[in-house]
Amino acid sequence: MNLDLDLTGSTVLILGTAHSARRALRRCTHAGAVVRTAHTPADVDLASLDDVRLVVAVDDCQGGWDEVLVRLRQTHLVVREDAAAPGGQVILVGGGPGQDELLTVAGRQALADADVVLYDRLAPHENLAELTHGAELVDVGKRPGHHAITQRGIEDLMVDRARAGETVVRLKGGDPYVFGRGSEEVAAAREAGIPVRVIPGITSAVSVPAAAGIPVTHREVSRLFTVISGHVPLTASECEHLAGLGGTIVVLMGIGTMHQTLTGLRRAGMTTEMPVAVVERGYSMNQRTTCSTLGEATSAATLAACSNPAVLVIGEVVRLGHDWPRELTELAGASLGVSG
Ligand code: SAH
Repeated sequence: MNLDLDLTGSTVLILGTAHSARRALRRCTHAGAVVRTAHTPADVDLASLDDVRLVVAVDDCQGGWDEVLVRLRQTHLVVREDAAAPGGQVILVGGGPGQDELLTVAGRQALADADVVLYDRLAPHENLAELTHGAELVDVGKRPGHHAITQRGIEDLMVDRARAGETVVRLKGGDPYVFGRGSEEVAAAREAGIPVRVIPGITSAVSVPAAAGIPVTHREVSRLFTVISGHVPLTASECEHLAGLGGTIVVLMGIGTMHQTLTGLRRAGMTTEMPVAVVERGYSMNQRTTCSTLGEATSAATLAACSNPAVLVIGEVVRLGHDWPRELTELAGASLGVSG
């Protein structure tokens, strides 16, 4: 049911059991309606419908409801049908790199249907109240005491709420299956016997470089890209493999270990002239790209000022970005080019 009517202050009568009608109830309340409910046909008082502007019949209104519905239609009331709210379920939604426009249509639909949304810091959450229809919004990135809820705590909350019959949307930054612990949450739901599905999102691994004009592949420049987590420093052998591959390297969560990553790649034989870009806060008003070369980047104090969230891109494709300074092409080892 799409509520394209302005229901502010209007009385809406919702027909259906408490459980199946809960989504219609949440949406109508959110749309500003004064809501009356009738959980059984006997609850409908045909004599007192004067102020009702709209009737919403939830589609499991079968059997005994037929007569009531016929009578309501005869009174020329607008009757809309709505699907019964589903039983408890979990939907993992990839929210993309932070901008509402980069959330998929399926992701938006899931948010519109949610009873509760558990969201992370990097998920697009500024306009969640508009994207949802009265869902409860829970920031699981932080608790009131500013401590993040543990992964186990998030999974328990997700499962408990779904068990109570709610549609739980777990909104995550980027794609749920790229360093997002999405598969652990899917496993937790499955173990609890709760239906779960995953709506992919646009990963920051590709989209944040793109926000700086950097393509992760380019014909005759790079025909592969490797996405790694910088959460833990790379081993010497991992650096050797990466340096040997010859394509683009994209590092997420890589600021804290950037020095080790770049030094490791240099030791593994990567040229000191290899372009490096740090793209911070992609798609925000404060997006910033810092361009350098492998030889310079490790020692550059500027890099210390780079902070999370940021994507590190190492490879020749960096030269194709918006912010690659010409002087870096002309003078190997020139100073950093920073643009805001
Ligand atoms: N599942 C996410 C990644 C989670 S790990 C995805 O697919 O994008 C979190 C890391 O993602 C951050 O440390 C940072 O490296 C990167 N990231 C996410 N959003 C970003 C943004 N808007 N700008 C820059 N980096 C971002």
